[in-house]
Amino acid sequence: MTNDRQLAIAALAARFGDRLSTASAIRDQHGHGESWHPTALPDAVFFAENEAEVSEAVRICADHRLPIVPFGAGTSVEGQVQAMQGGLSIDLSAMKRIIAVRPDDMDCTVEPGVTRVELNEHIRDQGLFFPVDPAGEATFGGMAATRASGTNAVRYGTMKDMVLSLRAVLPDGTILRSGQRAKKSSAGYDLTRLFIGSEGTLGIITELNLKLAGIPEQVSAATCSFPDMESAVRTVVEVLQCGINMSRIEVADEVQLKAINLYCKTNFPEQPMLFLEFAGNAKGVAAEIEIVRDLAQGNGGSDFRWAANEEERRALWHARYMAVASSKLLKPGARGMSTDVCVPISRLVECIAETKADLARCSLPAPLVGHVGDGNFHLYILFDPDDPTETAEAMRISEDLAARAIAMEGTCTGEHGVGLGKRKFMVEELGDPAVAAMRAIKAAIDPHNLMNPGKMLP
Ligand SMILES: Cc1cc2nc3c(=O)[nH]c(=O)nc-3n(C[C@H](O)[C@H](O)[C@H](O)COP(=O)(O)OP(=O)(O)OC[C@H]3O[C@@H](n4cnc5c(N)ncnc54)[C@H](O)[C@@H]3O)c2cc1C
Repeated sequence: MTNDRQLAIAALAARFGDRLSTASAIRDQHGHGESWHPTALPDAVFFAENEAEVSEAVRICADHRLPIVPFGAGTSVEGQVQAMQGGLSIDLSAMKRIIAVRPDDMDCTVEPGVTRVELNEHIRDQGLFFPVDPAGEATFGGMAATRASGTNAVRYGTMKDMVLSLRAVLPDGTILRSGQRAKKSSAGYDLTRLFIGSEGTLGIITELNLKLAGIPEQVSAATCSFPDMESAVRTVVEVLQCGINMSRIEVADEVQLKAINLYCKTNFPEQPMLFLEFAGNAKGVAAEIEIVRDLAQGNGGSDFRWAANEEERRALWHARYMAVASSKLLKPGARGMSTDVCVPISRLVECIAETKADLARCSLPAPLVGHVGDGNFHLYILFDPDDPTETAEAMRISEDLAARAIAMEGTCTGEHGVGLGKRKFMVEELGDPAVAAMRAIKAAIDPHNLMNPGKMLP
């Protein structure tokens, strides 16, 4: 560690005492997320308790040019929290205040360490919920910073749609407010959305104003099996083209179903399946169910299984949420490389068909699961990182898939973000002028490249 870094760490330790840790286990825990990328350790970890402390710590880092990596829950999957140049990991998970809930405005104000599970527990009695649902432990700071989404995005949108405004500590310690609580605003550049998806490269989000949704009167969930993936995905496209406002519509392939059955001790048919959820008033839900059933049957769908009550509905979605955990059983000890493409819905059948044809020639298990209502799907490619042949094959499948999606006017990342893993596709997807504009924004806000250096921009 350089002398200047030692001085910075000493200054932080003097100010924050034992909330500044250089213990190797703590540094290791903060040097990797849930991704397959190698660990990169920070020099120290600071557990912040409020915005003023974040600002103070950032000022100390800025004075000594010490890199900073914001850290929420570490569930990101593209190498976002690795400290590529060491420095200080600022852990926001203790900033857990739910500052205000305003049922009349259907919004709330939270600190960045609150998780959606915690918020939903807190507001359920008021008939409200927050719909964006990545990994259960993910924090709102991390969710905003990765522009996360999940199973409900087909109806409610992603974090870009659900954040009204935010507060952030800039790389020199200044505190910025991106807007107020109005549902819309034309006041200048959209700084809220600049920070959403910025992956900790522009500043540290310290407070968020979030939109909330009303818990629907009736929610019904079902699964439906199909002879092949094309039939399942064609059903999704037809459902959306009919204008049916599904609350969730997810696909899993036969490999994923096998893993889920193993892990959850369920007995789903091991063939392509849609997970469906309808929400609204009783009459509307009943009518939509009929239309979707007809469309599914027209595409060879069968074995509709309805969740008879709330407990069964939760069990059904629990099985879907366990997709990643269950996949690990298919190749014990393997690492998982997650892909995350998203294409216009009209190209989805083609994109999945080409991907499945590629997988048929591949020796690695790679279950497919997706938020297909948005045109977004993931492979979880299981490989041995110590085996160069397997690593090369996993990389090839992942890169070919990203290139395929971009060629179809889609994206290499629908929701996980760029981190380390998708940097190489930024120019191919966006073009040189857009990437140059991003670099200019980064240089203007963070001239010394202190905030999460080495991420996002190629
Ligand atoms: C099993 C599993 C399922 C998942 N499913 C989904 C899914 O369906 N949809 C989806 O979108 N994602 C999914 N993810 C990915 C992950 O949950 C999301 O990326 C999530 O938004 C990360 O939140 P976090 O709090 O863990 O952030 P972290 O991993 O801690 O950080 C992520 C990035 O945000 C930055 N950051 C964190 N906090 C702040 C802050 N306060 N201010 C500024 N920057 C900050 C970090 O520097 C880093 O760049 C899944 C992950 C797992 C393991």
